[in-house]
Amino acid sequence: MSLFAIHAMVWVSGWSNEEAERAISSAGRLGYDIIEIPLLDPERIDLEATRALLEAHDVTGAVSLGLGPHADVSSEDSAKVRAGTEILHKALAATRVLGGNYFGGVIYSALTKYSAPPSEKGRANSVAVIRELCQEAARDGITIGIEAVNRYETNLLNTGVQVVRYLDDVGEDNAVAHLDTFHMNIEEVDGPGAIRQCGDRLGYFHVNENHRGILGTGQMHLQPMFRALADIGFDRPVGFEAFSSSVADDVLGGMAGVWRDLWQDSDAIAKGALEAMRREMDEAQAASALLARI
Ligand code: MN
Repeated sequence: MSLFAIHAMVWVSGWSNEEAERAISSAGRLGYDIIEIPLLDPERIDLEATRALLEAHDVTGAVSLGLGPHADVSSEDSAKVRAGTEILHKALAATRVLGGNYFGGVIYSALTKYSAPPSEKGRANSVAVIRELCQEAARDGITIGIEAVNRYETNLLNTGVQVVRYLDDVGEDNAVAHLDTFHMNIEEVDGPGAIRQCGDRLGYFHVNENHRGILGTGQMHLQPMFRALADIGFDRPVGFEAFSSSVADDVLGGMAGVWRDLWQDSDAIAKGALEAMRREMDEAQAASALLARI
């Protein structure tokens, strides 16, 4: 039975205590199990207050981030690799303080538009940093998620198969593949096929409409994706993301390219997405069980 997660930027862009309370209480009230907190700067966040809010609303915190170009662990420049490593370990420590068990995102390279393919040395640097991060995370039972994103946001891992090969090189059991329908829609030959290829290496799944707006209003076909999740026996978190300029600030919105006002009512889209994801998952599991019997 999968848990359902939602990205905090459905409600807020910053993370003052007031913003944290709005996002966490809303997610909990609507029935979400997990809230994904974008932690670009752990030092500017009141972690203890956030932890108390998570406990009060019975919501688990998951942490995500994308590294900046100055902190690119897939660089050949050792100063950038060091800067990125420091951010990752600070974010991991924050995950621990928040009582979370998941830290992931574009943590293996910068989240930026590259103008050249990755280098072998840069990839090796990234693998070494993530391996060490995983070893430290394992001590606290924290899973490290490697999210494949589209070509305009990284040059290193654009597909599920690339992530699985990367995980083979990292060689740590607590590192998992993270797929996202928005990115899969751009990069995969076959989305459901990518889910099956990841198989039990898939540890987190992001549901997005193709325009990252209201689920069900775009071109995304969720049924085949959920059928593939059911077929691999996926029982890990399924998270909803939607971004609109009505909420996004310049920093996070700028990183994710959120230029348009695609929705305004955060609670309504969060509620609709949870209903749709639950329905799709229930129907897919029923179909998968039926197929197994005939
Ligand atoms: Mn995502």
